[in-house]
This record gives sequence, structure tokens and C-alpha cells, in this order.
Amino acid sequence: MEQIISRCGNICSECPWSIYVRKKILKEDWEDYSEQVKNYIGFKPVKYEWEGCVGCFTPNDELPTHPFFNFLKKCRTRKCGQHNEIPNCAYCGRFPCANTVARNDFSKEKISVKIGREISDAEYEQYTKMFDAMGNLNEIRSSLKDTQIKKPKLVSHQLEIPKLTGVFKNANFKLVYDKLIEIAKSNLGIKGIDTVSGLEQHKSRKEFLWRFLWIIGIFGDIGENDLNIDSGTLYDNRKPISLPNNEDGWKIIFDILIEFGINAELVIKTDKLYTPGGYMRAKIPKTNEPAYILKMKTSSKLQKYPFFKVLNKMLSELQKNSGKRAFSNFKKLNFNSILE
Ligand code: SF4
Ligand code: SF4
Repeated sequence: MEQIISRCGNICSECPWSIYVRKKILKEDWEDYSEQVKNYIGFKPVKYEWEGCVGCFTPNDELPTHPFFNFLKKCRTRKCGQHNEIPNCAYCGRFPCANTVARNDFSKEKISVKIGREISDAEYEQYTKMFDAMGNLNEIRSSLKDTQIKKPKLVSHQLEIPKLTGVFKNANFKLVYDKLIEIAKSNLGIKGIDTVSGLEQHKSRKEFLWRFLWIIGIFGDIGENDLNIDSGTLYDNRKPISLPNNEDGWKIIFDILIEFGINAELVIKTDKLYTPGGYMRAKIPKTNEPAYILKMKTSSKLQKYPFFKVLNKMLSELQKNSGKRAFSNFKKLNFNSILE
């Protein structure tokens, strides 16, 4: 069978989640095979009986209805490759861009370190190479002529800010509003926001930040110029976003907050912070206690309002005046219900 490479560099035709591999491996061999895969990549492929992934070249309206395929619909590398009309990122003039999701954590070297011995070429070929996205893309790239590499079709970041229909009753509300506009207009630490993948990443980071500001503004424990929030409260109010999976994920958010004058740190309350699957816990196992606390402090400039207290007042008023639409108004920067 012809090799099928996904937009981000995985080998779909060898992927244990795909329909293709289900056709190659007999049902009676599946359990052994999937256990072996797990030994190398850390995840066990789903049951043989499942229909299997049809790969990222299938158009959205032809994807099966199983919720698994939502990840394909949302994948920013897939959207970017479609937009640029290229088979995969190796054909792109921006490769390797900051937003491609191509991973290099399944290289032969990295897997050898992970499992504590050097894996053979045969093991790499059979169990790992299909997910060595960056390695596969580099291999394709080295075989391309310059004329086969395309410049990505650029896109622009457009922000619609609703017109204010009155004035804020309090001058500090206006200062917080201006700070929110400044955040909304920024790149949020994303390079290459002029590509589809960059813009998609910006969209999801913005979704995260707006929910995050909402949660801390409403539920945070607010002092004069500081704010603490525990992981249980964050987790209980997080939807529709997901919280970062690890400390590095939080570090990315903290680096963005510092640009806007908010200094944040993670105070870890347990030595069992991670689940066996490698995700950060919200609560200490078998207790209702938070696994970590975020401690934030504002810069001297924000202390003049003071930012956290005023944000809390604005959001509380928005909740009172906009009811169920309060969060949606907040993320659209629509504060008209609290104007005079
Ligand atoms: S899960 Fe990814 S690599 Fe596997 S078949 Fe689907 S698109 Fe391809
Ligand atoms: S801009 Fe990045 S994600 Fe988009 S096609 Fe190019 S390398 Fe891939």
C-alpha cells in the first residue's frame, strides 16, 4: 500500500489508530500488538472493533461522526495545510514554523532515553517512526526541490471591538477596559500569527485567557494587589477550556501575563501532582484539597486602579446586568450593559 503521510508528518498508513493498520493486523494479534505499541509510545491503541481513523485528508463533511474525529476538525496544522494547498508542512516555506504541531518526541533517540535502552532500527520502524513527525517531515523536505516549496498564503488578525454606547461610571473601569483591549490586540506570545496555524493558536490562547481572566476575576481570592486561586476552583469553572497539562504549560501563560503587568507563580501543594498518564491533578488524591495554587501580583502600574479589585467589580456588574450572557459579553469585550 502507498504510504500516507498526515499534514503534520505522521505516517497514517502505519498508525495504530488508523483503518489501514486494522486491515494489516489480524484481530487475534491485536492485543499483543497494541501492548507492544504502548511499551514504546506510552498509549494503548483503541480496540480493534473501533472503525479506525480515516486520516486527515478526509474532508470534514465526510469524517465519521465518532467524537474522536473532533481532534481532526480542530487540528490547526490540518487547517493550515488545507489552506496552503500543500500535502504536509515539509512543503511549506515557513517549515518548521512555531505553530506546526509536528513533534520530535518520538525520534529514535528520545524513545531510547524514555524506555531506558537503545532501540533497534527495526523497533523504530515498527513502533515509533509513524509518530516521529518532525523526523518524517525533515526526511521529505530533504528530498524536495526548491520549486516544490510554497510560501504560505497569509491571513490577518482582525479584532472587532463593539462600540461603547455610553461611558463607564467609574474611571477605573475604563482603565481595566483599556488593559483588556491591549491584551485582546496583542499576539499573546505567538509568532507567525499571519498563518492559519498561528491564527488558530492565537484563537485558542485567547479563548483560554478570557476564561482564565473570568475565573480569577469572579472566583479569585483578591487582596489589595494580589490574587490567589486554587486548582480545584480553576478546574470546576474551566469549561469550555482545558487547563495546562503541566508546569511548562502554565509557564507559557505566566510569560504572557507578565507582559501585561501580572506576575504569577505556581505553588505546588503535593508530591503527587501528576497522574500516571502525565496530567496535572486539580486535587490531591483522595482529598478535596487543591493540588496547586496560582499566586499573582500586579505591577505598580496596575496597582493604581487596583486591577484585580476593579476587574472583580466589573465582572460582578456584568453578571448582574447581562445574566447568562455575561461571560459571552466579556469575551467579546461588550461592556455596554454596565455603562451609564
Ligand atoms: S490519528 Fe493522525 S496519524 Fe493516525 S491515522 Fe489519524 S490523522 Fe493519521
Ligand atoms: S505555516 Fe506552519 S503549520 Fe502552516 S503549513 Fe507552514 S509549517 Fe505547516
